[in-house]
Amino acid sequence: MTNVRLEDIKRRFNNVTAIEDISFEIPDGEFWVLVGPSGCGKSTILRTIAGLETATSGNLFIGDRLMNNIPARQRDVAMVFQNYALYPHMTVAQNIAFGLQMRKVDAKIIQERVINVARSLSLEHLLDRKPKQLSGGQQQRVALGRAIARQPQVFLLDEPLSNLDAQLRDDTRAELKQLHQNLAITTIYVTHDQVEAMTLADKIVVLNRGRIQQIGDPQSIYALPANQMVASFLGNPPMNILPAIYQYSGFNISGQLLEIPPDLQAKLPLSQGQSVDLGIRPEHIHIHQPQPQANQDDTVVNSSQLMVEVKVVEPLGRETLIRVSLPDSSALLNVQLGGGVRLRPGDRLTLQLDLNQLFIFDST
Ligand code: ADP
Repeated sequence: MTNVRLEDIKRRFNNVTAIEDISFEIPDGEFWVLVGPSGCGKSTILRTIAGLETATSGNLFIGDRLMNNIPARQRDVAMVFQNYALYPHMTVAQNIAFGLQMRKVDAKIIQERVINVARSLSLEHLLDRKPKQLSGGQQQRVALGRAIARQPQVFLLDEPLSNLDAQLRDDTRAELKQLHQNLAITTIYVTHDQVEAMTLADKIVVLNRGRIQQIGDPQSIYALPANQMVASFLGNPPMNILPAIYQYSGFNISGQLLEIPPDLQAKLPLSQGQSVDLGIRPEHIHIHQPQPQANQDDTVVNSSQLMVEVKVVEPLGRETLIRVSLPDSSALLNVQLGGGVRLRPGDRLTLQLDLNQLFIFDST
């Protein structure tokens, strides 16, 4: 069993605390992603697990073994870096074999492993090439191959796709997922890219300023973010955040009243005049369609509606992303609509917000 357990890990560099209160346990064979903005401490956590960094305090277990004082070499973990770190003078086959040779593995076993790994990563036809004769994507596959060949107990990946162009990144991401499904090695993956986190992870650990903000599976974190940082970090386009003031019967947003039905109001732990930040995802805002048979009042802005002006229209094929502004506000809201929507900058719209999907955060 290769579960990885961190207990209250802290790392200080001189008088700067890079990470603190870091505790989680990854069950054997799961794929966990550490995600957060640059500088939030992701790499420090990964390097601490690898043994490239020493925690100032706290305990690290791999399996049942306390690793605090065990050198990197003896941890049976393999790490893949953003810059591949291949040996330029060695062929692909030699690069994949290197870690095994260092461990004095039998030459016949090495040969078999190199062939198996090359096959699983579609590198068989490249085994005799040197790294500089390979594309970025191929080099990254060799780096992965070198790590896999060692059959480590734990696989650590530090932004492994960030040097690849967009299409290659998507393809390699899918390959990585498949590879993990086949190998089922406990994997810890660091990225600042929320799409990678959402698509790859069994569990996501969201970090900010050296602390864990939330741990959960991608869907739960997306549906129930623990705070505004998590809400606005996961999701593309991100959750809209609207500063508002709670008033009798609803929220005042830049002078417009977003009415809240009494049953919902009763559940809100808010006081009159309280400033809050409202969060709503782009897919939970719709264009208000007045009912043809409705009475005149229905065309008046009421209930959960907001009047806006279209500023930017981005047709993306399957969907249309629009950015709109509220009168008296410079902030733009992202709204995700269906594919065939025809709108132009300057159009005025009434938007309907799905109140069941409204998040209320403390005002920042
Ligand atoms: P991330 O991987 O999320 O970008 P890092 O783990 O690299 O973040 O860094 C977390 C914080 O620790 C940053 O403020 C960074 O400047 C600091 N830090 C990381 N390594 C060192 C170091 N060797 N010396 C001093 N500060 C460091």
